[in-house]
Amino acid sequence: MSALSPFRTAAFRQCAVARPARIPRPAFFASQFQRYASTKHPKNFVPPTQEELDELRERTIEFARREITPEVAQATDHGNEFPNSMWRKFGEAGFLGVTADEAYGGLGMGYQAHCVILEELSRASGSIGLSYAAHSQLCINQLMLNGNEEQKEQYLPGLISGEKIGALAMSEHNAGSDVVSMKTTAKETDGGYILNGGKMWITNGPDAHLVIVYAKTEPDAHSKGITAFLVDTTAPGFSVQRKLDKLGMRGSNTGELSFDNVFVPSSHILGTKNKGVKVLMEGLDLERLVLSAGPLGLMKAALDVTLPYVHERKQFGIPLAQNQLIQAKMADMYTKYRASSAFTYSVARAIDESHEDPIIRTQDCAGAILYAAERATECGMDAIQCLGGMGYMNEMAAGRIMRDAKLYEIGAGTSEVRKIVIGRAFNREFGQR
Ligand SMILES: Cc1cc2nc3c(=O)[nH]c(=O)nc-3n(C[C@H](O)[C@H](O)[C@H](O)COP(=O)(O)OP(=O)(O)OC[C@H]3O[C@@H](n4cnc5c(N)ncnc54)[C@H](O)[C@@H]3O)c2cc1C
Repeated sequence: MSALSPFRTAAFRQCAVARPARIPRPAFFASQFQRYASTKHPKNFVPPTQEELDELRERTIEFARREITPEVAQATDHGNEFPNSMWRKFGEAGFLGVTADEAYGGLGMGYQAHCVILEELSRASGSIGLSYAAHSQLCINQLMLNGNEEQKEQYLPGLISGEKIGALAMSEHNAGSDVVSMKTTAKETDGGYILNGGKMWITNGPDAHLVIVYAKTEPDAHSKGITAFLVDTTAPGFSVQRKLDKLGMRGSNTGELSFDNVFVPSSHILGTKNKGVKVLMEGLDLERLVLSAGPLGLMKAALDVTLPYVHERKQFGIPLAQNQLIQAKMADMYTKYRASSAFTYSVARAIDESHEDPIIRTQDCAGAILYAAERATECGMDAIQCLGGMGYMNEMAAGRIMRDAKLYEIGAGTSEVRKIVIGRAFNREFGQR
């Protein structure tokens, strides 16, 4: 495998050791690539080559082998507790700012690279992968795309090094699929806003230092009265009501958050006042795309556990894998993984390669996660079936993979909502709603 480009190799090396807050960009690089401008990629973005992506995958696999062993994955699930020492390790490996500008410590490698990392982390542990994505995509990438210079300088280096943990909070008890019906309010006061309300099911919520919070600044204006805020969780009045106990993704700490007269300075508005829905919707396409790599990793994990087992275990004097009904399951699982992977990476490649004027098709981003999420649950179920009684035992990973996969049909919008979004995207092309 050939090496990363000299520039990226240098960036990677800096990631492997203590990384300075700002990585100086060589002068020749700045002048050579200054012409590139993108609203969805960092300044000077150059799409990664396939060789660079392959090398990134190898490094992520190596990291996961070392740091997310099967014992760590099982303990995270059984203990329902995220291993918080992982954040610094992610930071040192350069994983946290993969889509962020190098000026803030990011790798500036784009969305294909982000998918590669999330896929391989999720292959090792679905819940560690999910928490990683909530931090690196939902929080860091949203801040990267919508923050002003001052906000990025203040928050990105700490989030990218893993010193600080990030989350994004839009859902509420009574506002999930219909998220713009949220009830959390932000009332203007001297120098800022007072937030009141609650958020539900927030990934990393119990541990986060920074939460991107959506609240109504003009409750009567419905979707046109929502604003996004950067909320420091040390602010008086912020609290974690409870950590939630889940079917799967256990150990990806999920919380119910409460805001009781929390003061947020005006300088902490993310984007523009009352334009929070723009921030939210623009982020959603890329969020759906990147998160579709989570189910890819889980499908690979299902194959990892199933293939050796069915070739080793004998019944009726032959390995299970020599039965055609088991061969059909192996074929289905593999084909579902390959088809989902081709979908996700073709969409990510198109976005990275069109970075000067990015082509982001809602139906492609929603389609990638719709397809991958449903196939991953099916692969998890097939893995359990292929392992028989052992598949039903918690000492094997098959059950955990199935429980983790199911989340991707619900979180970041449900399968039903994704279908609605895809249908509406076509309707818009035909001038209808
Ligand atoms: C583990 C986990 C982590 C999460 N992390 C976050 C996070 O970090 N930040 C955040 O803001 N949120 C997060 N969420 C919330 C998630 O985005 C919501 O759960 C999701 O959007 C669904 O909303 P709901 O649970 O209220 O379901 P509901 O909206 O009540 O839907 C219930 C069912 O009805 C269906 N339905 C709803 N409306 C329609 C319709 N119009 N037509 C057809 N069917 C419909 C849905 O598809 C679903 O099957 C997380 C959730 C989970 C479980």
